[in-house]
Amino acid sequence: MNVTHVPVLVKEILEYFGHIEGVFLDCTVGLGGHAEAILNNNSRSFVVGLDVDEEALDIARRRLEHFIREGRLKLFKSSYVDARKVLNQLSLDTVDAILMDLGVSSMQLEKAERGFSFNRDGPLDMRMDKEQTVTAYEVVNFWDEETLSRIIFEYGEEKRYSRRIARYIVQNRPIKTTKQLVEILARAIPNKFDRKRHFATKVFQAIRIVVNSELDNLKRFLPNVPELLRSGGRIGVISFHSLEDRVVKEFFKSEPRLKQLTKKPITPKESEIELNPRSRSAKLRIAERV
Ligand code: SAH
Repeated sequence: MNVTHVPVLVKEILEYFGHIEGVFLDCTVGLGGHAEAILNNNSRSFVVGLDVDEEALDIARRRLEHFIREGRLKLFKSSYVDARKVLNQLSLDTVDAILMDLGVSSMQLEKAERGFSFNRDGPLDMRMDKEQTVTAYEVVNFWDEETLSRIIFEYGEEKRYSRRIARYIVQNRPIKTTKQLVEILARAIPNKFDRKRHFATKVFQAIRIVVNSELDNLKRFLPNVPELLRSGGRIGVISFHSLEDRVVKEFFKSEPRLKQLTKKPITPKESEIELNPRSRSAKLRIAERV
């Protein structure tokens, strides 16, 4: 299978980061789309790329082999939460830029067996890191109704029907596949076709966030940024839903060692959304280490 992932907001990233020479920490290197753009843009840039997904790293390794051989790209299987450890291994005290591209890659979505997609039938998995034990199956089949309702409300931002959805899930256990879950959601959610997005979007988002501790990881990592960045260095974070964007926004505002370069987040142009629908909810915020 030929998997691809079109990186989002590349032009905008290069506008703010293209002149920076030195080491970029790509916290979520994925298939290496942003890393590649950075490396191609400036021959005096280096990238340390992290990801928890071995499958993604394998593809990045193959695709960007020439940069690895030249010593300009190093890839590590690591959570960005442990970025400090990786940089220590490389004897790097600080880096010149940090990039984060949160959310799922198209590769993860397209591979049915990963269980991320409500459009493809697969096992309820959704782990970005295969070494981790909690899966979507466990969340859907073993977490109690109250907790499910809460996570759907909070992380799915499904304010209206979270209780009803949780009840339907609990009543229809065991649920083994993404298709089964979608069928249950179809029964649980009234007026499901009146929505802007597919009716399963919010619940899948909620489960994915808890399976991968997405918001917790972000909240744990951000306070390290001022120590990781050299003075004048920049961080750019691309988020795909308002919960993440809020965390980034609040952090940038509250941290005196960072100066926001984007009062309002940068969003993709119409032309990009047309070519790459996945980009439609992307928001990019950038700050500079003072
Ligand atoms: N910028 C990449 C795409 C990134 S998609 C590109 O252009 O190809 C988001 C990636 O973040 C996924 O590959 C996912 O596995 C990874 N990810 C999620 N949580 C992570 C974490 N805590 N640490 C490192 N990578 C993580």
